[in-house]
Amino acid sequence: MTPEEILAADRAHVWHPYTALPSANQPYVVSSAEGVRLRLADGRELVDGMSSWWAAIHGYRHPVLDAAVTDQLGRMSHVMFGGLTHEPAVQLARTLVELAPEGLEHVFLADSGSVSVEVAMKMCLQYQRAIGRPQRRRLATWRGGYHGDTFHPMSVCDPEGGMHHLWGDVLPRQVFAPVPPGGFADPPDEAYVAALVDAVERHADELAAVIVEPVVQGAGGMRFHHPGYLRVLREVTQAHGVLLIFDEIATGFGRTGTMFAAEHAGVAPDVMCVGKALTGGYLTLAATLCTPEIARGISATGVLAHGPTFMGNPLACAVANASLGLLRAGDWAGQVARVGAGLRAGLEPLRGTPGVTDVRVLGAIGVVQLDHEVDLGAATAAAIDRGVWLRPFRDLIYTMPPYVTDDADLARIAAGVAAAVAAG
Ligand code: PLP
Repeated sequence: MTPEEILAADRAHVWHPYTALPSANQPYVVSSAEGVRLRLADGRELVDGMSSWWAAIHGYRHPVLDAAVTDQLGRMSHVMFGGLTHEPAVQLARTLVELAPEGLEHVFLADSGSVSVEVAMKMCLQYQRAIGRPQRRRLATWRGGYHGDTFHPMSVCDPEGGMHHLWGDVLPRQVFAPVPPGGFADPPDEAYVAALVDAVERHADELAAVIVEPVVQGAGGMRFHHPGYLRVLREVTQAHGVLLIFDEIATGFGRTGTMFAAEHAGVAPDVMCVGKALTGGYLTLAATLCTPEIARGISATGVLAHGPTFMGNPLACAVANASLGLLRAGDWAGQVARVGAGLRAGLEPLRGTPGVTDVRVLGAIGVVQLDHEVDLGAATAAAIDRGVWLRPFRDLIYTMPPYVTDDADLARIAAGVAAAVAAG
């Protein structure tokens, strides 16, 4: 198909994320991707500032990851996971348990981040029921979070300001504390800590679990918060028999400078969700990890009633194993620190630019916040003119490049962000 034919068919039939039909902004046709570059159908090459939404940490067409998929394709691409098991899935579960914070020993392989959050919630409700607390079926969280687009995860996104405000009257009513104040380096605010503890204590008798994104709130606002808040949550949940879920779908596998963001706080959750970079962005796969106590509790009274058709897909597990192998064998921490330094050098000068209210960098994540809603079409086009792919939202222009992005391409991304700020 020609690029024009692709666009015409796209416009006629295809629904893209968070768009109306027809979409206000026409998508760009991408024809291939290699290293940190996306190649558009018109020949333009863009440095990917988004890692395809946090996922492509090693870049595209990585020879080790390509080989893992090809090799697995030669054995089996998919088999059902009910009653069958295979080496790629077992190896992946073992590696995840080795890498994860202490105490998480059982792994449920899901097919997307949202589903892994559904499974986490189901585990917690079912565990509370199993140990004789059926009334504990609500979740608590802080505002400004994002945990996915299926119904139960939507209920713990911010029901007022968030993407799912449309559904406020339909979703299960959960318990919300305010957004954590301050940034990553700002010490915990005492009044906030008291309110957080109070929210959990007041509702403890009806809470199955607290769920949060540790340290970085991603799609809900790209906020960074002090790890001390996680320690507070760990203590108060433990004291009241409430489970703690960390959603590490965006933050997992090194993005914030530690393998998992929980490590900044030195605490372990009872349940953890991972996805996105799990397969290096190659195939759709996510996982929910839990403690033996939860697994035992649930299993004493029945089964965990969840079983996606594509659970434990061998191709996805094989490429996840290869991606985690690359991470473990390489200097991912050094790469993330270098990307962070490049983003800091490139983005800090934007502080003070008219319209810019904040610039923040943590790990390999850079965020520029504006005092107005970004003009998505104009900002994206301006970045593309600089040879950079970005996807701003609301008042945020942000980037989380592949860990393998070199210094010259980091400078190019920063120039793309600056151009988007000026245009958007
Ligand atoms: N949780 C977090 C923290 C996320 O950032 C996302 C996706 O952006 C999700 C859950 C949902 O994952 P998925 O889009 O794979 O369903």
